[in-house]
Amino acid sequence: MKATLDHVGIAVGDIRAALSFYRDALGLEIEAAEEVASQRVRAHFIPVGSSSLELLEATAPDSPIARFVEKRGPGLHHITLLVDDIGAALEHLKARAVRLIDDAPRKGAEGALVVFIHPSSAHGVLVELKQAVSKSRQVAGAVTRYTVGDLELISLSDGIIRLDGGLMFGLVPKPLWERNTPADERNRVTLAMRPLVVRGTRTMIIDAGVGNKGDAKFNRIYGIDRSQSLDRTLAEAGLGPEDIDVVLATHLHFDHAGGFTVRDEAGRLRPRFPRARYVIRRGEWEDATHPNERSRGSYHVENYAPLAEAGVLELVDDDQTIMPGVRVKRTGGHTMHHQAIWIESRGQHAVYPADLMPMTVHLPANWIMGIDAYPMDTLVAKKAFLEEAAAKEALVFFQHDPKTPAGHITRQNGTWQIRA
Ligand SMILES: [Zn+2]
Ligand SMILES: [Zn+2]
Repeated sequence: MKATLDHVGIAVGDIRAALSFYRDALGLEIEAAEEVASQRVRAHFIPVGSSSLELLEATAPDSPIARFVEKRGPGLHHITLLVDDIGAALEHLKARAVRLIDDAPRKGAEGALVVFIHPSSAHGVLVELKQAVSKSRQVAGAVTRYTVGDLELISLSDGIIRLDGGLMFGLVPKPLWERNTPADERNRVTLAMRPLVVRGTRTMIIDAGVGNKGDAKFNRIYGIDRSQSLDRTLAEAGLGPEDIDVVLATHLHFDHAGGFTVRDEAGRLRPRFPRARYVIRRGEWEDATHPNERSRGSYHVENYAPLAEAGVLELVDDDQTIMPGVRVKRTGGHTMHHQAIWIESRGQHAVYPADLMPMTVHLPANWIMGIDAYPMDTLVAKKAFLEEAAAKEALVFFQHDPKTPAGHITRQNGTWQIRA
């Protein structure tokens, strides 16, 4: 059984005193409290790396936590381990005669499935097993629908990826970016991957996330978690791979083009969307198929070379309309031929700037990624982009933002702001 520590639950008698220790003395940040009415308990989560501490405060005298504190005093209440398959874990434990509190998985918070193991079998500790999309791994609004004129836009998710903070923020000092974008022990920050479906005269998908071809080492290095994968969110949106007519690439980095191809049972690479033509900018194609020492790490040829072999590739040279209402516009900067996707229908606008502005925190013009090949071009393109998005009142998609799929950009008192 593979398990990771999700959180440690601590029963608290005096929440003020507990907060003064964990928050003030240890200097940890406490998230807003969550009330669990059925348990008559208030939970205060404290993120520590990829796990958390959970301070449990009783809200009524008959709360199980109140009884626990009365009997044993405040202290360790339970530990929660995250498992991939709780059904299999349960069978495993039953076969080894472990004493369980729950005979079958039951529903916990946020749709998680949980099972409690009796402390008598766990050497005095109450152990909770949980199969979940844990909070720190969750992409908020993994399937979110919007209407722009006659077009339907569906923001999807291919899970999360963790990338080095320096790579994401370049010259911005860590104390500044870390405030809103906490780094893990390896200095990695959490990014969502959000492909966008556009439904109009045809059904298009813009980018396709990292896909599932990565091996264990790759998944570990990049902290890949595809609990909310494109397959899953596409299905939640009522679509399948065969519904996609057009795949449009902003650029060919592996966190955008990884989902363009899949490996079949025989180990052969093939296009992931069987009916689609794949539209890619020629300059980007040339750069991605001839990577240099600096770009090699981001361009993985198995993500796109099979498209040419399968005859589904369509290279475009200039800014142009790809299907009615959907236009590509080169930004450069991030890569020489990186492009933004502008969407218009009946006077309403949306834009998918991709890695020109990957997260909401990249709103200031000078918050430019360290990985950008031509950062001064990014600066120029981003300033123009902000002006155009605000003037058009465009719905802006934040492809890598784990919390906010889309919002509007406005200028207030001379500074740019995002209205989610
Ligand atoms: Zn990129
Ligand atoms: Zn990216």
